[in-house]
Amino acid sequence: MDPNLRIAIQTIYQKVDEAVKQAGPKCEASGRCCRFAEYGHTLFLSQLEAEYLLASAPPFSSVDPAVCPFQVESLCTAREPRPLGCRVYFCDPNYQEEGQRISEQGIRELKALADEHGLAWRYAPLHVFLKEHREQFVSQENASADQNPPVSNQPHKIPLPMAT
Ligand code: SF4
Repeated sequence: MDPNLRIAIQTIYQKVDEAVKQAGPKCEASGRCCRFAEYGHTLFLSQLEAEYLLASAPPFSSVDPAVCPFQVESLCTAREPRPLGCRVYFCDPNYQEEGQRISEQGIRELKALADEHGLAWRYAPLHVFLKEHREQFVSQENASADQNPPVSNQPHKIPLPMAT
C-alpha cells in the first residue's frame, strides 16, 4: 500500500478514536460484538480499509461470516489496523446517536480519500474481503509453484491462510 495512503488512513482513524473517546461510550469488553452471528450484525468496511487491515493483521485461517478471525480469546489481535466499524461500534444505548454521527463522518473522509487517490469506492462485509484475500494468496502460491516446482517429492505446503 502507498505509504501516503496508509498515513492518511491512520490520520482518519486517529480522529475517529479521539471523537469516540470524547463521547465516552461504556464497554464491558465482552468481545461479543466481534462474534457477528451471536451478536446479530455484520462488519462492513471499505476496500481501502480492507487493504490496510490485511496488510498488517496476523494470518487468519477462517473466513466464516459468523465471527471475526482476528478475535482470539475475546481480544482483538488486529487492534492497530482494525477498520472504522470496529472503532465506532459500542453497544452502550446512550452512545448510539453520537456513534452514528462519528461513523458517517469517518466514512465521508475515507470516501474522499479514495476519490483523491482515484480508487473505486467499494463497501462490503469483512468475510468477502477475507475470501478474496485468501483466493489471491492461493493463486499466487500456485503460480509460484508452477514456475518453481519443488525439487523433492515431498508435498508442497501452503502455510496460511487455510480453509476452514
Ligand atoms: S478486527 Fe478486531 S475489533 Fe474488529 S471485529 Fe475483528 S476482533 Fe473485533
